[in-house]
Amino acid sequence: MIKAKGYAAVNAVNELIPFEFERNKPKNHEVLVDIYFCGICHADIHQSKNEYHNTIYPLVPGHEIVGRIKSIGKDVTKFKINDLVGIGYFIDSCRHCSSCKEHEEQYCENGITPTQNAKLPDGTVTKGGYSDCIVVDESYVLKVSESLKPAGVAPLLCAGITTYSPLKYWKIGKGHKVAVLGLGGLGHMAVKFASSFGAYVTVLSGSANKKESALSLGANHFVLTSSNEEMKKAALSFDFLIDTVSAKHDYNTYLNLLRKEGTMILLGVPPEAPQLAAFQLISQRRKIAGSFIGGIAETQEMLDYCAEKNITAEVEVISPDYIKEAFERTFKGDVHYRFVIDAKRIYNKIKLL
Ligand code: NAP
Ligand code: ZN
Ligand code: ZN
Repeated sequence: MIKAKGYAAVNAVNELIPFEFERNKPKNHEVLVDIYFCGICHADIHQSKNEYHNTIYPLVPGHEIVGRIKSIGKDVTKFKINDLVGIGYFIDSCRHCSSCKEHEEQYCENGITPTQNAKLPDGTVTKGGYSDCIVVDESYVLKVSESLKPAGVAPLLCAGITTYSPLKYWKIGKGHKVAVLGLGGLGHMAVKFASSFGAYVTVLSGSANKKESALSLGANHFVLTSSNEEMKKAALSFDFLIDTVSAKHDYNTYLNLLRKEGTMILLGVPPEAPQLAAFQLISQRRKIAGSFIGGIAETQEMLDYCAEKNITAEVEVISPDYIKEAFERTFKGDVHYRFVIDAKRIYNKIKLL
């Protein structure tokens, strides 16, 4: 067994605390990754607070991981020691259902194995990247270019692929008017990708102070959602609206911004179910859809695209003892635009409680 150090939520209300646990040594097809950076996704906050009523404590969150291969199992062919790699939202899937065969493992009919909070057949629970190392099957590990700053790459493993995948699926680009609702981790990557693909991008945000940076991220236009006047002007204007909001909000208000046959793509997962007024869809033959992260092949494609175009996330690198504040600030929308934990700065200094 390998001794690992990390941070864990031990219940729904208290802050995360230093935590020591064990990981299995890499089996034949597995690699041991020395973690350098891990992003803080809002899903980690939902899960730490047990907002979906399925959290198994102690929970070690983290699924936006970048690090270097420290050791490999005897049958590993894709990687060698010291390679820079990434790990995202899941570390396994059934590998034989139609989704897995179509390289869309995220929609595995038998269920993916998430990097965190998944109960394995042997009774253990997967522990994520708020830690100093992780062991993963090589098929679910991504190659990361040495040309990008690794802290800015970490959020690509969830926020990046989650926004890249729907833009690709709906072939969004030149000639499309796209709205991005919520300028946080996912939202700012949606802006970067949509503008890189040539779309006309509008940010819909509740935070007036994000206007300037929205434009510098590549947005063409900014709408303050609390301004009735600005929202009125935006009615019936978008082909697509990408909803990244993490908290309860009124979908009907935003559906109204879509033009005829426009599509609202849900990415955010508010814990409470929304109310949907059928008329908002019927009146303009609008559509509402959802999208979940991305498959391994598409995640690799996205990472390669980012290396080619020099795209990374905007990050605030923190030490693990700042996780509590980072959670609070993210929850309030005060995130610019992803907190990333520097594993090297911290875990070797952790004094276990
Ligand atoms: P985040 O960084 O916290 O960003 C969410 C943004 O939504 C905030 O910055 C804020 O933007 C806006 N917002 C927050 N509360 C709001 C409210 N009450 N009303 C209106 N707007 C509000 O979160 P994230 O990491 O991007 O994740 C966003 C959501 O996507 C989460 O629910 C997460 O679990 C989910 N997610 C889904 C997938 C998937 O595969 N579909 C993958 C990863 C995450 P403004 O300040 O601009 O208003
Ligand atoms: Zn995530
Ligand atoms: Zn499958």
